[in-house]
Amino acid sequence: MALIAVARRSLGATLELALPTTCGGCGSAGATWCLACADEAGHATYPGGARQVRPTPCPQGFPPTWAASPYGAAARAALVAFKDGDRRDLVDVLAPMLSGAIAAALAGDPHLRAVLASDNGPVFVVPVPSSPVAVRRRGDAPLELLTRAAVRWLGLSERELVVAPALRLHRRVADQAGLDHVQRADNLERAMQVQPRWRASIHGVTTLLVDDVLTTGATLMEAARALDAGGASHVAAATVAATQRRGIPA
Ligand SMILES: [Zn+2]
Repeated sequence: MALIAVARRSLGATLELALPTTCGGCGSAGATWCLACADEAGHATYPGGARQVRPTPCPQGFPPTWAASPYGAAARAALVAFKDGDRRDLVDVLAPMLSGAIAAALAGDPHLRAVLASDNGPVFVVPVPSSPVAVRRRGDAPLELLTRAAVRWLGLSERELVVAPALRLHRRVADQAGLDHVQRADNLERAMQVQPRWRASIHGVTTLLVDDVLTTGATLMEAARALDAGGASHVAAATVAATQRRGIPA
């Protein structure tokens, strides 16, 4: 119940931001997130908040996944500017969206719900790993930053949720852009693993993966496989957005 309220509040907060800068959605001067883009994202955000989504075609064993919004023009521009355009201030726009998807997963996934209800947490919130090349280029890992902000936004205790950057890419992978769903899956096959220092603590733990966009599902599939191989007891996922062509409601 409280989680639903948090999800609703987060959508409101997204619309209220107004700081002196340029818009992360369209580049117009005046605000981090202009009224037109807020309006577009507001319309784009699924009615009633985040919802369960799955890619089409849906890979067998795809983890139950919740997204805050379809991947519209404003969401795309904000995510690109946040990750690669030196607009880390857009975390204030994106974190409330992601927190809505996390809240929906915690409320909608029976396993996560049971863990929280029985005080058997914490659930480990695991950002999908960036490649070492991307971390060097950007100087940091924006998805981890966004995940931490979204979890803070929810205001749950560390007995309930902790951010666990437990995965790493252990070999080079190509940029996923421009690859079809078969190529993406091949590109990522067995590319991830639980980092050595997380191996003991991930065992038997309930996990919630986080990524920015659900497209073909290849990234979440590989991350879920790696967590499963590392002994996680359950894997669900939350994303900021889901592509409309492939990420249809489950
Ligand atoms: Zn704008």
